[in-house]
This record gives sequence, C-alpha cells and structure tokens, in this order.
Amino acid sequence: MKRTAKFTSHKRHLIAGNWKMNGLLGDAQQFIADLADNPAPDHVEVALMPPFTLLHPMAESLREKDVRLGAQSVYFEKNGAFTGSISAIMLRDVGCHYVILGHSERRDIIGESNNIVHSKLDAAWETGLEPILCIGEHQQERENGKTNAVLSEQLSVLAKARSDAPLTVAYEPVWAIGTGLTATPEQVTETHAFIHDELARMGHDCRVLYGGSVKPDNAAALMACPGVEGALVGGASLQATSFNQIIQAAGNVAKGE
Ligand code: PEP
Repeated sequence: MKRTAKFTSHKRHLIAGNWKMNGLLGDAQQFIADLADNPAPDHVEVALMPPFTLLHPMAESLREKDVRLGAQSVYFEKNGAFTGSISAIMLRDVGCHYVILGHSERRDIIGESNNIVHSKLDAAWETGLEPILCIGEHQQERENGKTNAVLSEQLSVLAKARSDAPLTVAYEPVWAIGTGLTATPEQVTETHAFIHDELARMGHDCRVLYGGSVKPDNAAALMACPGVEGALVGGASLQATSFNQIIQAAGNVAKGE
C-alpha cells in the first residue's frame, strides 16, 4: 500500500558524519580546519562521529565551533570488568552529544541484536546522550516485500521509551550503505512516511535522517524528500570538501531553494 506523507518538518536538519574505522590525529585536525572555512547554514546542524580514539582531541578542537560530537557505539554497562568497552558516561565525559546505535555494520558484523540495542538506548538516555537509532532492511527483505516488517521490528525498541527522550532515527537501507546505490526519492519518501507513522503510533515525534551512499551529487534530491530531516553520511564525510557540499545542499533544501 502506498503511503502519502502528511508530514511537516519543525526540526533543524542534521548532517552527521560517521567516520567508521577511519581517521588518525593529523587527519582530524586538518578536517576541522577545512570545515571551519565553510560555516553551516543556520537551519542545519552538523555532527561528527569519529572513532573513539579521536573523540577527546576532536572535542577540544570543536569547543568553539558549532559542530556536535558523537560516538559510533557504546556499551550498556556503566563501568567494570568489560575489557575493550566504552560506557555512556565516558562518552559524556569526553564531550559527546550523540551516539549511533543499531548501525547495520554492528548488527551484521558484530552480531548486535535488537535486545542489545534496547539496553544501549537505555544506557544512553540515562546518561543524557542522544541516540541516533539506525534501522534498515537488506536487499532480499526489500525484494520480498518485508521492508516495513523489518523496520517495525527494529523500531519496537522504542515502544516503552518516554516520548520526550532525545532521539534521532536514521533510515539506512543496508543495500545502499557503502555501495554507491541509493534508494530512489519515491522509496525514501514512502519509507520515511511509514517510519514517521510508526514513531507517531509509539508517541515519538523525532527527526528521521536518510543514510546510504549520500554524496554531493545526490544530497539535494534525497534531502528534498518529504519526511527526510538530514543525513547520516559515511564515505563522503571523510573529506571536508564533500561533507561540506552535502551540508550546503541540505541548507539550500531546508531554506526552500
Ligand atoms: C553509514 O555508514 O551510515 C553510511 C551511510 O555510509 P555510506 O554513506 O558510506 O553509505
């Protein structure tokens, strides 16, 4: 069944860069210097999610800048004998505002289940972090008409959450991540309408980003889809030039140009 979006955006759009397992100290300093040459438009918020090793130095460099910092994951326990893990309070301590949860690379490669994502959401909220909850279907699931069922299942972790809990959702079709494939504007519009409906049914009114091979040349078309309020950007966020072009494209769309 086709859905018609009856959606009006009230929120500042977010362009968030997920660096994944990329970036050394020198890269981070250069990136921030290059990004500072092009301030973001007023109606666009910018955030960076570098690897854990860069959080502290980047927090220092971003102190005076209008760019928020986030982590790519978190462990749900507060502290203790959990070798190799980082807790939500540690992320807050180092200056993070956001944490990405449920990214398909963590679900598929590390084996993170919906239950674990649920525990991590609670840990993030207890500490004052804003989760960016990633959801998305695999190619086969889309081809089999299972997209909405998969998304509903992934969104079910929000069923008991307080409606005023800080939250951003990112719709990232797994087949579009790092592949150069993107969902068509029709697919994005229809799927975002479904996600907004599901969120509303659970009492949430939050920003929904699109992610999956967002690049300077497709950003404007994707950001113009109703129900899209920003982007989670992987590969194209590694270079300040391409990341900035996406920020400016989002700014033009949000301004109605
Ligand atoms: C991501 O990892 O969240 C992502 C969207 O990656 P890419 O932009 O490289 O597809």
